[in-house]
Amino acid sequence: MEIRVKDISKIYGANENQVVALNLASMTIQEGDFISIMGPSGSGKSTLLHIISGLDTPTSGSVLYGSTDIHHGSDKDLSAFRRRKIGFIFQQFNLLPVLTAYENIVMPMLLDKKQADEAYLQELASLLGLKNRLSHLPHELSGGQQQRTAIARALIAKPDIIFADEPTGNLDSKSGGEVMNMLCNIREKMKKTLVIITHDPRIAQMAERRFTIIDGELSEVTAS
Ligand code: ADP
Ligand code: MG
Repeated sequence: MEIRVKDISKIYGANENQVVALNLASMTIQEGDFISIMGPSGSGKSTLLHIISGLDTPTSGSVLYGSTDIHHGSDKDLSAFRRRKIGFIFQQFNLLPVLTAYENIVMPMLLDKKQADEAYLQELASLLGLKNRLSHLPHELSGGQQQRTAIARALIAKPDIIFADEPTGNLDSKSGGEVMNMLCNIREKMKKTLVIITHDPRIAQMAERRFTIIDGELSEVTAS
């Protein structure tokens, strides 16, 4: 499914407190694309990803998945759509501390009143090096293992599209490298669309299409 992001603006606050976080951002994401978005802190990266994935609403502009405008339907439709079509990976992992890795991974399915595909879960655990960690609580896992658990959770509903907001931002370079390698490997194997925000030029270079964002202005980097 093609995603068309058209003239998205996001303005926070009013009057003299106004912050223009995004100014007329547009991009088209094709099925299977691997896209990176780089930009300094505060440039609007998270705002953009949240709006494209339906976690936040734009001040103006539209986001179309195929012919569906995700910001102009009901909230109920949007949350169902997000649960089934989109996986989101956060910098801070956002695991529930009282649940085991396994329980965290299947949580999106429970919220959707569905059964997790157990064979698929085991395949994910194996691809992410979590086979012997599924019964552990988050505090018993390393940062890299926690993020890999969060990746499995993002993938459990078999979404077509994965968004990742600085997924290695809280990790040392070795575990960050492992997380990126596994994510790239899964993307290729399972033919997912991946849009990743990063500070790290090496990670940005791994993507097939690269964008930069500066002061809310999004542009694609064209090969020279
Ligand atoms: P990045 O992810 O690139 O660091 P963000 O998208 O988080 O940047 O933020 C872009 C700008 O919008 C920043 O100036 C930030 O302070 C501002 N901003 C983000 N969220 C809010 C909010 N809820 N209320 C007010 N300003 C916000
Ligand atoms: Mg951010």
